[in-house]
Amino acid sequence: MGLREWFSLEGRRVLVAGASRGIGLAIAQACARAGAHTILAARSIDRLAEHVQALQREGCSAEARALDVTDTDSIRALVASVGEVDVLHNVAGINIRKRYTDYSPEEYERIMQTNLHGLALLARLVGQKMIERGRGGKIIFIGSLMSLFGLPYMAIYAMTKSALAGLTRALAAEWGRYNIQVNCIVPGFIVTDLNRELWQQPVMLDWLKHAQAIPHPGQPEDVAPLAVFLSGRGSDYITGQLIAVDGGYSTTAVWPYVPA
Ligand code: NDP
Repeated sequence: MGLREWFSLEGRRVLVAGASRGIGLAIAQACARAGAHTILAARSIDRLAEHVQALQREGCSAEARALDVTDTDSIRALVASVGEVDVLHNVAGINIRKRYTDYSPEEYERIMQTNLHGLALLARLVGQKMIERGRGGKIIFIGSLMSLFGLPYMAIYAMTKSALAGLTRALAAEWGRYNIQVNCIVPGFIVTDLNRELWQQPVMLDWLKHAQAIPHPGQPEDVAPLAVFLSGRGSDYITGQLIAVDGGYSTTAVWPYVPA
């Protein structure tokens, strides 16, 4: 196998759940440009259709599909009608930042349903089809730094992202024999609609400058190349991994000391 086979997604069908904006859109665009037929799924079908048309104008192969990961029927309908899937990117996610004691039962359910239960069902149904057809596949979850450690005021989000890490490892162990690789990308602080307001605050940017090896937040396009790599044959011997794209935040510390 040469360089082209390692990195090209030609001939692959990639489903991106949560592809209408942010990290999921960047992943879908990158997969399409790497040669995959890419299925962009989310609730905002008009927005998806616009992105698909733009990709098609570039000569890429893509389609838009409606998906609400909080709705079991919507998930089942998508899987039943989407055809073969070689690669599933489970990206959809929301966050509500508040004190743990302040979450309403409705907010708890909404975060759990969106970030965990819907994606777990999608992985189960797509994984089942991959097993039945017998040609392997790739499942990639989008975790978070909260898959690794704690930050305040996002406890429910942290529960879901920690659970996705556990699911990644368990499915990798269970489905390795079917040549299905399951990995989890851990984005660090990436500016999207999920947090744009937060990263406009000078106090946050100043904190990050002094806390992180690469001293600024990332962009969705910083995450996409790893997603492409994990979708292709070059990553066939990588499974059960949490791989951070975080400017070094999870592995480095920065201090004011400088040698004389
Ligand atoms: P955005 O808000 O920009 O994008 C979220 C995506 O999820 C949208 O495409 C949205 O589509 C989709 N989505 C949300 N709810 C549903 C639903 N019920 N059904 C289907 N799709 C849904 O956020 P990000 O790009 O930042 O987040 C993407 C993922 O990356 C999330 O899982 C997030 O937790 C994770 N992440 C983000 C980080 C960051 O710093 N930005 C850091 C670590 C992880 P639509 O609304 O059209 O349905």
